[in-house]
Amino acid sequence: MLKFSIPQNIIVDYGGVSRLGTYAAELNMTNVLIIADPFLAEAPLAKQATASLDEAGIRHAMFTDVKPNPTAVCVDEAAKLFKSGECDSIIAIGGGSSLDVAKAVGVVVKYGGEIGDYEGMNTVPGPIVPFIAIPTTAGTGSEVTSFSVITDEARNYKLTVGSKLLLPAYAILDPGVLATVPARVAAACGTDAMVHAIESFTNTVDSTFSGMYSLEALRLIGKYLKRFYARRDDAEAARGMMVAATMAGIAFESTRLGLVHAMSHPISAFFHVAHGEANGLLLPSVLEFNALADKGQYELMHEALFPDVEYYEPEDFINEIRSLLESIGIPDSLEAAGVDRESFPAVVEQMTRDAMASGNIAVNPRAVTPKDVEAIYRAL
Ligand SMILES: [Zn+2]
Repeated sequence: MLKFSIPQNIIVDYGGVSRLGTYAAELNMTNVLIIADPFLAEAPLAKQATASLDEAGIRHAMFTDVKPNPTAVCVDEAAKLFKSGECDSIIAIGGGSSLDVAKAVGVVVKYGGEIGDYEGMNTVPGPIVPFIAIPTTAGTGSEVTSFSVITDEARNYKLTVGSKLLLPAYAILDPGVLATVPARVAAACGTDAMVHAIESFTNTVDSTFSGMYSLEALRLIGKYLKRFYARRDDAEAARGMMVAATMAGIAFESTRLGLVHAMSHPISAFFHVAHGEANGLLLPSVLEFNALADKGQYELMHEALFPDVEYYEPEDFINEIRSLLESIGIPDSLEAAGVDRESFPAVVEQMTRDAMASGNIAVNPRAVTPKDVEAIYRAL
């Protein structure tokens, strides 16, 4: 059995933020709550967005108190602002966190209660309020994935709400917004997108449809990641990376991921390593571990990412990945990622248990034991 769907509109529009009013009017938005990353509050990008809404006669309020790993409290606060401002729709501008909050707010303002009430898969009763997402990084794919991850601080627990109903009606990809992204963020997010494509393409879930998106994402990443890292205002490279990240998101939306993501979440949780950097750090080791299960996908991924380099065996692909990651400054050991040697041994067993509890382990191409996970952590 195989299921695949993309129930939304994807618009690639350089400078599209300055035409936001037109898009909002198409969705009959009249009073919008903009949910954005904090640094956007005073940024030219937010001004462009609000100016365009003003021009279209669409009222707006703005909520920018979004932190990384957003909390249920943050969702409540944004929902309060939505209600007191009598808003009827949401526009999210930012990275994965702003989009996660926007999805959650879209549920609670329509159906009441707290976001924790909707934990799990397909618990959202119906369509959420009209919603536009404008990603400001090229990486998470959150604009095309049906998940919202919110931290419940009271329980010290990350709750996930999963439903196709959370998908924004419009995902507007404006590569112009990437021009001011720092190089390190560009590298981390681009690496995350690459790992999404690789894990989706190699895992055990049928990839007849998603594989097409994975390979095209990898082809674009091979062509543009280094160029984008070198200059984020390179319009062609920015466009390539933004489209690649969205394609990789479409791919893993229907397949889940694999061992890299299972193991990277504990690294980020315990040591605050950026998600994309933690993924890049793990990728070569996991590719080596998974190579035994290769059914020819390594060669196809190699052709997509490194079309000018001869391929004979999986090791060729892994070596090229290593040098790509090195060239964009991704750390190659836990120590290089800022993890201190003293505190690691005390938590490695907990990290292993957390990684094994991930739903991504079940679809990894090679069967995984806790011993395997701990050995990879220790080697790194
Ligand atoms: Zn990821």
